[in-house]
Amino acid sequence: MTEELFSTDAYARTCSATVAEVTESGLVLDRTVFYARGGGQPGDTGVIRWDRGGVSVTDTVKRDGHVLHLLEGEPPPVGASVEAEIDWERRHTLMRTHTALHALSAVIFRDHDTKVTGGNMEPGIARMDFELEAIDAEFAKRVEEVLNAELAADRPVRVSFLPRAEALLDPDLIRTKVNLIPESVDPIRVIEIEGLDKQADGGTHVRSTAEVGAVRVAKTENKGKAFKRMRIELARA
Ligand SMILES: [Zn+2]
Repeated sequence: MTEELFSTDAYARTCSATVAEVTESGLVLDRTVFYARGGGQPGDTGVIRWDRGGVSVTDTVKRDGHVLHLLEGEPPPVGASVEAEIDWERRHTLMRTHTALHALSAVIFRDHDTKVTGGNMEPGIARMDFELEAIDAEFAKRVEEVLNAELAADRPVRVSFLPRAEALLDPDLIRTKVNLIPESVDPIRVIEIEGLDKQADGGTHVRSTAEVGAVRVAKTENKGKAFKRMRIELARA
């Protein structure tokens, strides 16, 4: 298993590591700062350097419990000592986007009693699907205002690890379907936006909602009966 440094420290940009395995599709390290695609958050990109060269990481995915770095170029050999560095600008934008999405889902649930059914993000842009009969510009405007007020409140965002048995009893985590996480996962990683949202989540987030900055509701779409989609964008790059 790869030691996933991003799980406890989202702000780590680089780490030293040893090449554990080189496969046809990519590279496995003993430890990494590269987030592997999952939970709606794209995988990290960046560079891996060693004494004889460097290679670009074009994406990062999870495979058989390992974090697999997808490369463009010649990989370093097994056993090599390397320095792994993520594209921090892109990742930090993704962290802001991810935290914004959690805040949005909390506002939609709290103020409109509406269940969120899915979400996805790119750097600076995210979409969320939810069960709602009707949606209009007025609704989008109201959500945008409330969301921005919550973000500006500078709420701390915390990572914690809860024993699975405990997580299954937490009403907030039940609401966000903690029971659907595979049984082998214990403890459960929890992301909490103080006073606003709590959910089981593997992604990387900023330390506080003020770091997200303001958000715009870019678009609302009617995708069918009780299936509405909202797109948000970070107001500053
Ligand atoms: Zn998330």
